[in-house]
Amino acid sequence: MSEAGKSTLTLALSKGRILEDTLPLLAAAGIEPKDDPLKSRKLRFETNRPDLSMLVIRAADVPTFVEYGAADLGIAGKDVLMEHNGNGLYEPLDLGIASCKLMVAGKPDAIEQAGSRRLRVATKYMETTRRHFAAKGQQVELIKLYGSMELAPLVGLADLIVDLVDTGNTLKANGLVPLETIAEISSRLVVNKASMKMKAGAVKELLAIFEQATAK
Ligand code: AMP
Repeated sequence: MSEAGKSTLTLALSKGRILEDTLPLLAAAGIEPKDDPLKSRKLRFETNRPDLSMLVIRAADVPTFVEYGAADLGIAGKDVLMEHNGNGLYEPLDLGIASCKLMVAGKPDAIEQAGSRRLRVATKYMETTRRHFAAKGQQVELIKLYGSMELAPLVGLADLIVDLVDTGNTLKANGLVPLETIAEISSRLVVNKASMKMKAGAVKELLAIFEQATAK
């Protein structure tokens, strides 16, 4: 609680592409960080609101910080939330930013080339990819990569990849084509379950502000 008896909140933001779309949304919500997160090497930021501070962390870590209550709220891509698959958080609002698709992609003839051989799929989304192919009853071999998935089919490491596709330019530049959509992706506001109860007033106020800013 702050001196005024109001709960203080911590909001975890995803670094990278999402952050570029998040800052204008925060501005529309009347929230300004005291330093520029795109330039500063700081990881924790005070804002113009004395009751709100922000963390800027790796996208994949946002659900963990929120689930364990190290942050009350977070902004994370649906891709990251699907992969995290935890149950310690609520996902009350689609912010409609950083929209893209989680897709299966490969060379145009990837499936024919593999013939009856088990397909190898390179991805950083191991859980989501496993679930996707399991749901189709298709046995595949998963190869975990941390980035540059598009390279895998070019060097014979994998037949297919599962990755985010926005404009499709990265696929095209590497001679790959989209083959299947796994999910439509956008960034979501997530809330720690205990914070939702213990800091209900403050959380609901912030939620309403984000709802309004999203509708703009
Ligand atoms: P594009 O060439 O526009 O299709 O973008 C594809 C590349 O950008 C891939 O390497 C993706 O992993 C990455 N990417 C696309 N959209 C997003 C997003 N919303 N969040 C994070 N990474 C993304």
